[in-house]
Amino acid sequence: MNLHLEGKTVVVTGASRGIGRAIAIALAGEGANVVVNFRADNKAAAETVAKVADGGGHAMAVQADVRDLEAVTTMMATAKAEFGGVDVLINNAGITRDNLTMFMSDDEWREVLDTNLTGAFNCSKAVARDMVRQKHGRIINISSDAGVMGDPMRANYAAAKAGMLGLTKALAREFAGYGITVNAVAPGVIGTDMIADMKESKRDRQLAMIPLKRFGKADEVASLVVFLASDSAAYITGQVFSIDGGLHM
Ligand code: NAP
Repeated sequence: MNLHLEGKTVVVTGASRGIGRAIAIALAGEGANVVVNFRADNKAAAETVAKVADGGGHAMAVQADVRDLEAVTTMMATAKAEFGGVDVLINNAGITRDNLTMFMSDDEWREVLDTNLTGAFNCSKAVARDMVRQKHGRIINISSDAGVMGDPMRANYAAAKAGMLGLTKALAREFAGYGITVNAVAPGVIGTDMIADMKESKRDRQLAMIPLKRFGKADEVASLVVFLASDSAAYITGQVFSIDGGLHM
């Protein structure tokens, strides 16, 4: 397969833990130079960088809150100065603030929309000019099955993740003439910190609905992302790929 990721500059948002970390390690394993973005946990981000180095790869941790356009613009400039123009952007940073809609606060609504949706817009905007100028690029948005199917107590999260799908398709059409592809990955339930607090009753309900009868692994999401980031995926754009053990089909 034609991956051609050696020497490419990749920015992975929210790469200090979980799925973002697995994506950073997998892309660095294919020879890409990776910016490990994080918001607060610099120790965890440093661990991701160390794991990349252990595998013989190159990575650099860069703090930036994806809600802040100025901060992400500075991060992209840092990536360019260190590794060269950004070739691949993975919009992965995300949070949950679960609540029933009737009790959901303005803050719970806004924080999730600002991080999960506006964050992806901010980062895409910050790389757009350079990608258009260099006439190639990959943007991969980590959405969720929740954005495709809905999820109770998650009006904020499902709306943000569905918004990412609209963003994906709009950007795919806007950038198609410049060799830039834009796709979305929609994981089901993946074993990371994000689901660590899931109630046992919800866990059991979810497992019962998954044909493959297990939760996914961050590495499994990373494998799909590596393919979509590669030259082999050059003819795929504007698509949404569920990776969920068959939860949504
Ligand atoms: P996680 O383990 O909770 O990690 C979240 C990551 O996002 C952390 O690196 C965190 O950085 C970063 N982050 C949060 N807010 C940020 C901000 N404002 N600016 C920059 N970085 C920020 O989550 P995960 O399970 O790996 O999820 C990764 C993505 O996959 C998310 O978009 C999530 O919605 C999506 N997803 C997850 C699942 C699942 O079951 N796990 C399912 C479907 C979709 P700090 O460590 O510095 O806070």
